[in-house]
Amino acid sequence: LKVLAQYNPIKDAGWEKGNPLPYMVLAKTFEKIESTSSRLTIIEHLTNLFRSIMILGTTQDLITTIYLSINKIGPSYLGKELGIGDKILISAISESTGRSLQFVKQELKKVGDLGIIAQNSRMTQKVMFQPPPLTMASVLAKFKQIADLSGNASQKKKSELIKSLLVACKDCETLYIIRSLQGKLRIGLAERSVLLALSKAVLCTPYFNKSEFPPKVMDIRKTMRLEEFEEKLLDAVAKVTRAYSQLPNYDLMVPMLVKENGLSTILHDCSLEVGVPVKPMLAQPTTGISQMLDRFTDMEFTCEFKYDGERAQIHCLENGNVTIYTRNLEDYTGKYPDIIQNVKKFIGPTVKSFILDCEAVGYDPATNKILSFQVFSSRPKKNVTMDKIKIPACVFAFDLLYLNGKSLIDEPLVKRREVLYENFIESPGVFSFAKHSNISDVNDIQAYLEEAVEGNCEGLMVKTLKEKSIYEPSRRSYNWLKIKKDYLQGMTDSLDLVPIGAWYGKGKRTGTYGAYLLACYDEDNDEFQTCCKIGTGFSDEQLSMFTETLKPHVINQPRNMFRVNDQIKPDVWFSPTAVWEVLAADLSISPIHTAASGAVDPNKGIALRFPRFIRIREDKNPEDATSSEQVVDMYKNQKINNTANQSNKDED
Ligand code: ATP
Repeated sequence: LKVLAQYNPIKDAGWEKGNPLPYMVLAKTFEKIESTSSRLTIIEHLTNLFRSIMILGTTQDLITTIYLSINKIGPSYLGKELGIGDKILISAISESTGRSLQFVKQELKKVGDLGIIAQNSRMTQKVMFQPPPLTMASVLAKFKQIADLSGNASQKKKSELIKSLLVACKDCETLYIIRSLQGKLRIGLAERSVLLALSKAVLCTPYFNKSEFPPKVMDIRKTMRLEEFEEKLLDAVAKVTRAYSQLPNYDLMVPMLVKENGLSTILHDCSLEVGVPVKPMLAQPTTGISQMLDRFTDMEFTCEFKYDGERAQIHCLENGNVTIYTRNLEDYTGKYPDIIQNVKKFIGPTVKSFILDCEAVGYDPATNKILSFQVFSSRPKKNVTMDKIKIPACVFAFDLLYLNGKSLIDEPLVKRREVLYENFIESPGVFSFAKHSNISDVNDIQAYLEEAVEGNCEGLMVKTLKEKSIYEPSRRSYNWLKIKKDYLQGMTDSLDLVPIGAWYGKGKRTGTYGAYLLACYDEDNDEFQTCCKIGTGFSDEQLSMFTETLKPHVINQPRNMFRVNDQIKPDVWFSPTAVWEVLAADLSISPIHTAASGAVDPNKGIALRFPRFIRIREDKNPEDATSSEQVVDMYKNQKINNTANQSNKDED
């Protein structure tokens, strides 16, 4: 609160109450955020911005500011994104600043950041008249217009819109407008930080003196103890995060949150809506059946087959409109015309609207068998027509989240399953309920696991059935445990990691990157922490492909949000964009890698030994990568003894 009281972005940007909110308010805040690597200070600046807008601006101002802060133009699941290529930006910068194309290109080679080049060029240019200042609303509206334009003929229009933004920029605005247009804001604001700052702003707002402009913070110590405030903050963050995972749409959520007593009713107000994807519940890994039994003592549980396909959240509106979302909330409706066509075959007469949680799996009608993920993943992804489908998808439903206007997520699994079975109809090769058995004897579970593996499944999902069995959106819950066949063979689970750097290849690999630096994601600190250098498991085609796809994401220096030991010096750094699944022989304590540093050894992190690339995880965002908390769990869970012989070695 001290920080909040000291710096006011609104005052700094010279905003007069009653006028539209200037973009400068956000640009100044970005500048402050960029100048620090302390996450706490970053959160304070963001909180400061949000609460100022809450007190002085409109709810729409706040929503617009949130989208611009996370470099989005609307809810992620709508799939509209900025990501304007350098070519069009270079020509817009050149035309709006009077610099030659050649000059901008040369500078790009030297400086590496078009935002900085545009800002420097802007400052040298004399303007005849200054267009009106950019407002938050006008910037978002233009960003939306630009993202909506498609096709070759649209390039000119895009360029005009970009130029109209650039000529109106002042000061540091140019830098952030360019970076936002590129889709690389590079200030390290994850959605998690935004939700935390939003919760804090909502909680603090009553403690500001609104009669002053800009409002000053009142001394909350007169009203409550610090511990009490912290407790309230934890509760607020939990509520806001859950509300957002139920309804990941700021346009819908923010008005409910900022209204009077919004925090106390937010979970009820932000209930599920058909057509808005829910952040899926996730499972915890276990090393085997005995560990699972230890966790579930005295609790009823159920074992389900763990199908190996692609998560599919199927939404059906009362008007029959169907949409299908991936684990990542991406709209994959266009990938599954066969599922869309089959919906009427599997809904009962009572069903009007629903949200089903399922796994879409490849199915061979000739043998009536499930196909492997590798075969299924060869299906085309976009704008698929029925004649292009060679591998039909069969839906295996394991949860029902919503039916006929009512959310079911607070019901126990046993109830949700009952409603699922009552209202939906199995149809061979098209729709099945996930096979399950409520067994509890170790031998029976072992036999069931083997049956699942024989049936081309990955293993079992074991879930609490009655007690503690509500559906927890976005949570990696201990009430869902996964037992994969690989765990039983003594292997660790695979990890999903983010390439943040690379070394140029030598010999056969000359011309491509030959090895990559991979990182896990630390949710608490919003950091990417390194855990291995990897050069194994890639085919030659993959090496060439990754070199091409990652080149546009090369950055000059590691981001603030990368935690890297000085001894690791890759030839290039990347913005975090891709997620790769990787297997390792085991995990060991590392003096040079920073993953979960301090968690198992006070000064060392955890690294993967003998990492091997498995596949790309297109259904994951960098923030969905394996977390450092999971890395610690995996390290502790591994069957082999991790002490003496490997503790000080790092294979890198
Ligand atoms: P994460 O746990 O990080 O999501 P992941 O995406 O690699 O990792 P897994 O760990 O393999 O997924 O397991 C969870 C996934 O298993 C679910 O996201 C879902 O797609 C799939 N799945 C298959 N069968 C079931 C089932 N019966 N119940 C729940 N999930 C299932």
